[in-house]
Amino acid sequence: MSDIIHLLPDSVANQIAAGEVIQRPASVLKELVENSIDAGATFIQIVIKDAGRTLIQVVDNGKGMSETDARMAFERHATSKIENADDLFSLRTMGFRGEALASIAAVAQVELRTRRSEDELGILVEIAGTRVFKQETVQCDLGTSFQVKNLFFNVPARRRFLKSDNVEKSHILTEFYRVALVNSNIAFSLFDGDEEIFQLPASNNKIRIENIFGKNVKKRWQQQLLTIETSTNIANIHGYVGKPEYAQKSGSQYFFVNGRYMRHPYFHKAVLLAYNQMIQASESPNYFIYLEVDPQTIDINIHPTKTEIKFENEQAIWSILSATVKEALGKFNVVPSIDFDQEGAVDMPTGIPIENIRPPQTNFNPNYNPFGTTNYKRPALNWEDLYGEFEKKNDPVESSATGQTNFEPPATISVDTSFGQQQEIDNIELRAENFQYKNRYILTGIKSGLLMIDQHRAHTRVLFDQFLIQIENSKGISQQVLFPEILELSVDDMLLFEQIMPDLQHVGFEFEILNNNSLKVIGVSAQVGTSSVLDLILDILENAKKTAADPTTHLKESISLSMAEYASLKAGQHLTNEEMSDLIDRLFACANHNFTPDGKKIMTLLSLDELEKRF
Ligand code: ADP
Ligand code: MG
Repeated sequence: MSDIIHLLPDSVANQIAAGEVIQRPASVLKELVENSIDAGATFIQIVIKDAGRTLIQVVDNGKGMSETDARMAFERHATSKIENADDLFSLRTMGFRGEALASIAAVAQVELRTRRSEDELGILVEIAGTRVFKQETVQCDLGTSFQVKNLFFNVPARRRFLKSDNVEKSHILTEFYRVALVNSNIAFSLFDGDEEIFQLPASNNKIRIENIFGKNVKKRWQQQLLTIETSTNIANIHGYVGKPEYAQKSGSQYFFVNGRYMRHPYFHKAVLLAYNQMIQASESPNYFIYLEVDPQTIDINIHPTKTEIKFENEQAIWSILSATVKEALGKFNVVPSIDFDQEGAVDMPTGIPIENIRPPQTNFNPNYNPFGTTNYKRPALNWEDLYGEFEKKNDPVESSATGQTNFEPPATISVDTSFGQQQEIDNIELRAENFQYKNRYILTGIKSGLLMIDQHRAHTRVLFDQFLIQIENSKGISQQVLFPEILELSVDDMLLFEQIMPDLQHVGFEFEILNNNSLKVIGVSAQVGTSSVLDLILDILENAKKTAADPTTHLKESISLSMAEYASLKAGQHLTNEEMSDLIDRLFACANHNFTPDGKKIMTLLSLDELEKRF
């Protein structure tokens, strides 16, 4: 039998290699843009069509390539960036593997035009599936232009693996943000077909962040970023962290090292630790942190698509990082910033740490009689008897099970009552025994002890159940806004918004689409009210983003929760006795009255036993 082992042809080998490097249109964009950065470009223009399926074009004004280099660039392991293995440890460039262009050319149709400043004419190379179709001199601008067409034209299986346009576009944006945020000195533009998505002038990191994420809510971003800055001989750290109250369900979190985006779960924990106690467990802060270290002390992941990076001084950097962030947050807390340009908006972010809320002074009048009869006096009763009856009626478990929670108090009360009128007294007793503590908790007596209810959480549960039903039955009542507000969204937010719009309409929102990235809010859910409705929608989107990424949760729940959080009573709000009773009734009518939809405890019971032990 003859020998059976042979070398694979280049085209096949490259295609296999491409499987690692080029997984989707976003990977092409990343590789091309990184090459432009390495070529010293100061302006990079990107055009995609059909979410990058049919075209990804990257044009730069970098140093260009010679004729030979333009051809060599497509060879595997062809690079101008490193010469030997040692160079791997002093990397200053984004690329070094020399396999991106070879991989792209193996699975797409590529057209390269490039010219160096010293050359009068440029070079055109056309290559597809590793075969060179054309190589000739042409007139062209200084710099380099890559057009990558019909990605995976020769690999149908991979083509089928691509996700919907929206998903592919959001991958593209993710890559775009990662390079644009750390190369703020380079101007970028991004077009989807003819539509301009981003036009980012060369600037500094802070303005770049605002230009990207605060595109239409700039003020929110200007207000929220705190500067961090430290230099030590191990690392220089600079960047921005979000004020705690701007923490979101899914914050924007970016680490960069030596100009490269990285994921670093361990350092992430260092940042979170600095926010300890300042944000809720379910929230995460925004941060953009740029580290500069000696390239010798890090190990860039050799795997082409991994973004994890190993640090020699990981623990030391961890501590420096945490301390730096803590210091920035500390300064901010001691000297609260006064923003004069808030345009009178009442800014009450939900993430304010509880310690920072100073409830307004209580104006609780212990003699207040909610039913208006002036001759009301607490009846002198046999308490034990009364209690026994009362328990049966008002034990939350029982009443919620029977659903009979909505009783009306009798309109007039005979106070000089005898035991024969106990029924009425029971009701009154329930109403009269609620007590609001610190304008935050409702205290009420039940059979087994003293029940303490968090008013904000209770109301959140009640509203959540209502909104969810409204979404499902499209029964929301709409309220017209007097001055319609314009909501402008980034591209990826708009994609998501389109998904959740029907649900929002079901709960009473009304929109008028103005163009690709803006819409007018003309009606809102009547239960929500019309103040700061834009903030609400942004919150809903923020939460929906997290939900969309997690298949175990549902968008409808996420929307209902955002709205409930927004519209619910806050800590610090004084409640009348009737309001408290009404809230308790409605809470116990909910199937799950013990926990909020996001799992927080609504009530706690100080049992009679416990109470007695204390005396
Ligand atoms: P790597 O970036 O790892 O070196 P690539 O396959 O991405 O490998 O690119 C191969 C080579 O092509 C680069 O080393 C560089 O010399 C050249 N090159 C690629 N893109 C550009 C560009 N936009 N401008 C100038 N040279 C480029
Ligand atoms: Mg490269």
